[in-house]
Amino acid sequence: MHALEQKILAEGIVLSEEVLKVDSFLNHQIDPVMMQQIGQEFARLFKDAGITKIITIEASGIAPAVMAGLELGVPVIFARKYQSLTLKDDLYRSKVFSFTKQVESTIAISNKHISSSDKVLVIDDFLANGQAALGLADLIHQAQAEVVGIGIVIEKSFQPGRDLLLEKGYRVESLARVKSLANGTVEFVRD
Ligand code: 5GP
Repeated sequence: MHALEQKILAEGIVLSEEVLKVDSFLNHQIDPVMMQQIGQEFARLFKDAGITKIITIEASGIAPAVMAGLELGVPVIFARKYQSLTLKDDLYRSKVFSFTKQVESTIAISNKHISSSDKVLVIDDFLANGQAALGLADLIHQAQAEVVGIGIVIEKSFQPGRDLLLEKGYRVESLARVKSLANGTVEFVRD
Protein backbone atom coordinates (compact mmCIF):
# COMPACT_ATOMS: atom_id res chain seq x y z
CA MET A 1 0.00 0.00 0.00
CA HIS A 2 1.82 3.00 -1.36
CA ALA A 3 0.37 5.69 0.94
CA LEU A 4 1.26 3.64 4.01
CA GLU A 5 4.82 3.06 2.80
CA GLN A 6 5.21 6.80 2.17
CA LYS A 7 3.89 7.54 5.67
CA ILE A 8 6.35 5.08 7.22
CA LEU A 9 9.24 6.60 5.26
CA ALA A 10 8.21 10.14 6.27
CA GLU A 11 7.37 9.55 9.94
CA GLY A 12 8.69 6.15 11.05
CA ILE A 13 11.61 6.10 13.48
CA VAL A 14 13.98 3.14 13.33
CA LEU A 15 14.68 2.38 17.00
CA SER A 16 16.95 -0.59 16.27
CA GLU A 17 17.48 -3.18 13.53
CA GLU A 18 14.37 -4.93 14.90
CA VAL A 19 11.98 -2.22 16.07
CA LEU A 20 10.15 0.48 14.14
CA LYS A 21 8.35 3.30 15.95
CA VAL A 22 5.27 4.77 14.30
CA ASP A 23 3.88 6.77 17.20
CA SER A 24 2.81 9.69 15.01
CA PHE A 25 0.04 7.82 13.18
CA LEU A 26 -0.58 4.33 14.61
CA ASN A 27 0.80 3.54 18.08
CA HIS A 28 0.11 6.72 20.05
CA GLN A 29 -1.27 9.58 17.97
CA ILE A 30 -3.63 8.19 15.34
CA ASP A 31 -4.08 9.55 11.83
CA PRO A 32 -7.78 8.90 11.07
CA VAL A 33 -7.40 9.46 7.33
CA MET A 34 -4.55 6.94 7.14
CA MET A 35 -6.59 4.51 9.27
CA GLN A 36 -9.55 4.91 6.94
CA GLN A 37 -7.39 4.05 3.93
CA ILE A 38 -6.03 1.04 5.82
CA GLY A 39 -9.58 -0.09 6.59
CA GLN A 40 -10.55 0.28 2.94
CA GLU A 41 -7.55 -1.77 1.83
CA PHE A 42 -8.31 -4.60 4.29
CA ALA A 43 -11.94 -4.53 3.11
CA ARG A 44 -10.84 -4.75 -0.54
CA LEU A 45 -8.57 -7.73 0.21
CA PHE A 46 -11.12 -9.66 2.29
CA LYS A 47 -14.46 -8.56 0.78
CA ASP A 48 -15.21 -12.00 -0.71
CA ALA A 49 -14.17 -14.01 2.36
CA GLY A 50 -17.57 -13.97 4.06
CA ILE A 51 -16.23 -12.32 7.21
CA THR A 52 -18.71 -11.96 10.07
CA LYS A 53 -16.37 -10.56 12.74
CA ILE A 54 -12.97 -8.96 13.25
CA ILE A 55 -10.73 -9.70 16.22
CA THR A 56 -7.76 -7.60 17.26
CA ILE A 57 -5.75 -6.91 20.42
CA GLU A 58 -5.66 -3.76 22.54
CA ALA A 59 -4.50 -1.08 22.11
CA SER A 60 -2.87 -0.42 18.75
CA GLY A 61 -4.86 -2.95 16.73
CA ILE A 62 -8.15 -1.24 17.53
CA ALA A 63 -7.95 1.74 15.14
CA PRO A 64 -7.20 -0.23 11.95
CA ALA A 65 -9.61 -3.01 12.99
CA VAL A 66 -12.49 -0.59 13.58
CA MET A 67 -11.92 1.04 10.20
CA ALA A 68 -11.90 -2.37 8.51
CA GLY A 69 -15.05 -3.31 10.43
CA LEU A 70 -16.76 -0.14 9.27
CA GLU A 71 -15.90 -0.91 5.64
CA LEU A 72 -16.90 -4.58 5.88
CA GLY A 73 -19.99 -3.88 8.01
CA VAL A 74 -19.04 -6.30 10.80
CA PRO A 75 -18.42 -5.94 14.57
CA VAL A 76 -14.92 -5.70 16.02
CA ILE A 77 -13.80 -7.46 19.21
CA PHE A 78 -10.56 -6.50 20.88
CA ALA A 79 -8.86 -8.99 23.15
CA ARG A 80 -8.01 -7.55 26.56
CA LYS A 81 -4.47 -7.84 27.83
CA TYR A 82 -5.20 -6.87 31.39
CA GLN A 83 -7.61 -8.10 34.01
CA SER A 84 -10.75 -6.02 33.86
CA LEU A 85 -13.39 -5.74 36.53
CA THR A 86 -16.04 -5.48 33.84
CA LEU A 87 -14.87 -8.58 31.96
CA LYS A 88 -16.43 -11.20 34.19
CA ASP A 89 -18.17 -13.44 31.67
CA ASP A 90 -16.88 -16.81 30.69
CA LEU A 91 -13.67 -16.08 28.88
CA TYR A 92 -11.53 -17.65 26.22
CA ARG A 93 -7.91 -17.09 27.24
CA SER A 94 -4.54 -17.53 25.57
CA LYS A 95 -0.95 -16.75 26.53
CA VAL A 96 1.07 -14.45 24.31
CA PHE A 97 4.74 -13.55 24.53
CA SER A 98 5.01 -9.82 23.82
CA PHE A 99 7.68 -8.79 21.31
CA THR A 100 7.92 -5.22 22.54
CA LYS A 101 7.62 -5.88 26.29
CA GLN A 102 9.42 -9.25 26.34
CA VAL A 103 6.98 -10.68 28.87
CA GLU A 104 4.24 -13.27 28.61
CA SER A 105 0.72 -12.01 29.14
CA THR A 106 -2.73 -13.52 29.06
CA ILE A 107 -5.18 -12.20 26.49
CA ALA A 108 -8.91 -12.80 26.81
CA ILE A 109 -12.26 -12.29 25.12
CA SER A 110 -15.74 -12.97 26.40
CA ASN A 111 -17.34 -16.04 24.87
CA LYS A 112 -20.61 -14.19 24.32
CA HIS A 113 -19.32 -12.19 21.34
CA ILE A 114 -18.18 -15.11 19.19
CA SER A 115 -19.81 -18.36 18.11
CA SER A 116 -18.94 -21.43 16.05
CA SER A 117 -20.64 -19.97 12.97
CA ASP A 118 -18.33 -16.92 12.88
CA LYS A 119 -15.80 -16.39 10.08
CA VAL A 120 -13.19 -14.18 11.65
CA LEU A 121 -10.54 -11.80 10.33
CA VAL A 122 -7.61 -11.19 12.70
CA ILE A 123 -6.10 -7.71 12.46
CA ASP A 124 -2.99 -6.37 14.17
CA ASP A 125 -0.69 -3.38 13.82
CA PHE A 126 2.64 -5.23 13.52
CA LEU A 127 3.80 -8.74 12.67
CA ALA A 128 7.14 -9.81 14.15
CA ASN A 129 7.30 -13.36 15.52
CA GLY A 130 3.61 -14.06 15.02
CA GLN A 131 2.79 -14.64 18.69
CA ALA A 132 0.01 -12.07 18.98
CA ALA A 133 -1.69 -13.35 15.81
CA LEU A 134 -1.37 -16.97 16.98
CA GLY A 135 -2.85 -16.05 20.38
CA LEU A 136 -5.82 -14.37 18.69
CA ALA A 137 -6.26 -17.37 16.36
CA ASP A 138 -6.21 -19.62 19.44
CA LEU A 139 -9.11 -17.64 20.99
CA ILE A 140 -11.08 -18.05 17.74
CA HIS A 141 -10.38 -21.80 17.63
CA GLN A 142 -11.54 -22.15 21.25
CA ALA A 143 -14.89 -20.75 20.07
CA GLN A 144 -14.80 -23.30 17.20
CA ALA A 145 -15.07 -20.39 14.81
CA GLU A 146 -13.04 -20.10 11.59
CA VAL A 147 -9.98 -17.90 11.05
CA VAL A 148 -10.43 -16.70 7.47
CA GLY A 149 -7.34 -14.52 7.37
CA ILE A 150 -4.82 -12.38 9.17
CA GLY A 151 -4.50 -8.72 8.18
CA ILE A 152 -1.38 -6.87 9.29
CA VAL A 153 -0.66 -3.17 8.92
CA ILE A 154 3.16 -3.43 9.06
CA GLU A 155 4.93 -6.75 8.63
CA LYS A 156 8.63 -7.05 9.41
CA SER A 157 9.41 -9.68 6.82
CA PHE A 158 12.90 -10.35 8.20
CA GLN A 159 11.33 -11.82 11.33
CA PRO A 160 9.73 -15.29 11.37
CA GLY A 161 6.03 -14.43 11.95
CA ARG A 162 4.79 -14.56 8.38
CA ASP A 163 6.32 -17.97 7.61
CA LEU A 164 5.02 -19.39 10.88
CA LEU A 165 1.46 -18.25 10.10
CA LEU A 166 1.65 -19.49 6.50
CA GLU A 167 2.96 -22.88 7.72
CA LYS A 168 -0.14 -23.16 9.89
CA GLY A 169 -2.28 -22.58 6.80
CA TYR A 170 -3.46 -19.04 7.48
CA ARG A 171 -3.95 -16.44 4.75
CA VAL A 172 -1.72 -13.46 5.62
CA GLU A 173 -2.22 -10.03 4.03
CA SER A 174 0.20 -7.26 5.06
CA LEU A 175 -0.25 -3.70 3.85
CA ALA A 176 3.43 -2.78 4.21
CA ARG A 177 6.23 -5.36 4.23
CA VAL A 178 9.50 -4.17 5.73
CA LYS A 179 12.48 -6.09 4.38
CA SER A 180 15.10 -4.46 6.58
CA LEU A 181 15.66 -1.81 9.25
CA ALA A 182 19.46 -1.96 8.91
CA ASN A 183 21.50 1.27 9.08
CA GLY A 184 18.55 3.23 10.43
CA THR A 185 16.73 2.92 7.10
CA VAL A 186 13.41 1.33 6.23
CA GLU A 187 13.54 -0.89 3.15
CA PHE A 188 10.38 -2.53 1.78
CA VAL A 189 9.86 -5.91 0.11
CA ARG A 190 9.24 -5.49 -3.62
CA ASP A 191 7.31 -8.38 -5.24
P1 5GP B 1 4.60 -10.65 17.37
O1 5GP B 1 3.54 -11.15 18.30
O2 5GP B 1 4.28 -10.90 15.92
O3 5GP B 1 5.97 -11.13 17.73
O4 5GP B 1 4.67 -9.07 17.55
C1 5GP B 1 3.56 -8.31 17.20
C2 5GP B 1 3.13 -7.42 18.33
O5 5GP B 1 4.26 -6.77 18.93
C3 5GP B 1 2.22 -6.33 17.82
O6 5GP B 1 0.97 -6.46 18.46
C4 5GP B 1 2.89 -5.03 18.17
O7 5GP B 1 2.16 -4.36 19.16
C5 5GP B 1 4.25 -5.39 18.72
N1 5GP B 1 5.36 -5.07 17.79
C6 5GP B 1 6.18 -5.97 17.19
N2 5GP B 1 7.15 -5.36 16.50
C7 5GP B 1 6.94 -4.03 16.65
C8 5GP B 1 7.63 -2.88 16.16
O8 5GP B 1 8.64 -2.92 15.44
N3 5GP B 1 7.11 -1.67 16.52
C9 5GP B 1 6.01 -1.55 17.31
N4 5GP B 1 5.57 -0.32 17.59
N5 5GP B 1 5.34 -2.63 17.79
C10 5GP B 1 5.80 -3.86 17.47
